[in-house]
Amino acid sequence: MAADYYEILGVSKSATQDEIKKAYRQLARKYHPDVNKDDPGTEAKFKEINEAYEVLSDPDKRRNYDMFGTAKGSAFGGGFDDSSVFGGFEGPFGDIFDMFFGNWQNQGARAKSSAQRGSDLSLELTVDFEEAVFGAEKEVEIGRLISCQACNGSGLEPGTSPETCPTCRGAGEIRSEQRTVFGTFVRTAACPKCQGTGRIITSPCKECNGQGRKPVHEKIKVEVPAGVDNGVTLKLGGKGEAGLRGGRPGDLYVMLHVKPHPVFERRGVDLYCQLPITFTQAAIGSEVKVPTLEGFETIKIAPGTQTGTNFKLKGKGVPSLHYKTRGDIIVQAVIETPQKLTEKQKQLLIEFAHESGEDIHETSTGGIFGRIKDAFGPK
Ligand SMILES: [Zn+2]
Ligand SMILES: [Zn+2]
Repeated sequence: MAADYYEILGVSKSATQDEIKKAYRQLARKYHPDVNKDDPGTEAKFKEINEAYEVLSDPDKRRNYDMFGTAKGSAFGGGFDDSSVFGGFEGPFGDIFDMFFGNWQNQGARAKSSAQRGSDLSLELTVDFEEAVFGAEKEVEIGRLISCQACNGSGLEPGTSPETCPTCRGAGEIRSEQRTVFGTFVRTAACPKCQGTGRIITSPCKECNGQGRKPVHEKIKVEVPAGVDNGVTLKLGGKGEAGLRGGRPGDLYVMLHVKPHPVFERRGVDLYCQLPITFTQAAIGSEVKVPTLEGFETIKIAPGTQTGTNFKLKGKGVPSLHYKTRGDIIVQAVIETPQKLTEKQKQLLIEFAHESGEDIHETSTGGIFGRIKDAFGPK
């Protein structure tokens, strides 16, 4: 049973931090073992003073200490009665998990919350062009740690309770003292044996060896929304690794790679493709079939169509991720010059040229060629 820290330092319960510090300095100087070499009793007193100061100078610890009071033993001074924590909170907390990791912490127990959020995981997923455009349900295989069902993530064998850590006596932290001529410096660090929880599991869950988590290899469904593009990363909340000691699970990030399409090039929500048409089709006009992602459509080529003319298929592009609209397909006409003419085709084209008043052996004087000629001056 620890003594009253306020009494040890000779301050009132409402003492300010300055008052506590002042009282501590005076007492530490008076009872320092170096000053009282002949009196072995002062060493214990000195320790007591340091202990009291360590608690009362830390607002969090002081609050906890005030809550538990001196009668139940100090939360930090050791000798903490385990049952006073657990016994005191029976009833409203039927679930050992809540009691140990959740509400228990909120009741002002001194061990710092050691809940640790699970790690995020990430992976890459390659989808087809059409899957990215129209959306798809995919499956990924992933190895991750999930919360152990047998012990509800607590690591405790069902029906057992954790015990006070013998290393830190339940404090959750280890204190080391360093004495200098200026006084004693106290350093604290999380207890390595209990990871700062103040509790240790003496009957570990057999399913998870007390880890509270188990590795699994599982398939996870990934909903690929319509309209995603290459490089988009999807976040699957809570599908990362399970947390530790009641911590939240991490998330799973899925980075999408979209395979290119053999015909279409995507620019935002619009799809571009080139449409080869013959010289005759372009000159006379025609109806031609063009591809879309949902089959072919027929478009009209007006007589006299030039290379580079765009035809727009409205609403046949990619659905917008943000609006309920779809982009367009833009088809660009490319006029193909006939190759490997038969003798007859050649004759017909020469005839065609004559009919057009065109001398096929001389450079055209109009258009861009004419302008080039002009630029270089008459020859
Ligand atoms: Zn378990
Ligand atoms: Zn410990």
